[in-house]
Amino acid sequence: MIKRNLDHVNQNIEAACQNAGRNREEVVLIAVSKTKPVSMLMEAYEYGCREFGENKVQELVEKYEIMPKDIKWHMIGHLQRNKVKYVVGKAALIHSVDSLKLAEEISREAVKKQVDVSVLIEVNIAGEDTKFGVAAKNAEQLVRDAASLPGLHIKGLMTIAPFVMNPEENRQYFARLKQLAVDINQKNIDNVNMNVLSMGMTGDYMVAIEEGASYVRVGTGIFGERQYPV
Ligand SMILES: *Cc1c(COP(=O)(O)O)cnc(C)c1O
Repeated sequence: MIKRNLDHVNQNIEAACQNAGRNREEVVLIAVSKTKPVSMLMEAYEYGCREFGENKVQELVEKYEIMPKDIKWHMIGHLQRNKVKYVVGKAALIHSVDSLKLAEEISREAVKKQVDVSVLIEVNIAGEDTKFGVAAKNAEQLVRDAASLPGLHIKGLMTIAPFVMNPEENRQYFARLKQLAVDINQKNIDNVNMNVLSMGMTGDYMVAIEEGASYVRVGTGIFGERQYPV
């Protein structure tokens, strides 16, 4: 099942890139493996997946310890400050920085461990009450404030778009995130590069790619429905 799903997702990514006149190499697929057993992740690994996404620190760390070391782990879920110490040095990219306090904690830990940490700023682009993420209008200020923190490198923006039946409804939000990144990039803030856009999930990753996604985060489309709510 996983091989067939991966083939299907990869074909869709290719088609979306073609629609948008983009190179396939510009888009990286993150296999979102939360709640799934290592055996399933290993199956995806055997079919070529090297980028995995988890939304809980403990689960990321457990899988990190067991699985091959050439995997890049993406922390895509809400991150509490008291858990930062467990992911710094393990996650290749933290997608969910949405406050200066969190950025400061990551920086402190990065300095302590003498590592560089790449992060994205999570933006609540549709302004949903239920979502984490900084409001679009406050994103630039957060980028400016976090930009000078040692050990921390801001690479771009991430968003979790609304849950919709028709992915076209989210096109506006993906376009808005892209524009926000372009606007911030134009300010030429030191130590800030807004080239990475993490957007698009199983329901809408093709639209996200057409609007400029560099990472798409696909869980259900690869591993099937999750058995318990997360
Ligand atoms: C679970 C999750 C995904 C993947 O969702 P699917 O709809 O299963 O593809 C993507 N991004 C984040 C932040 C998630 O928590």
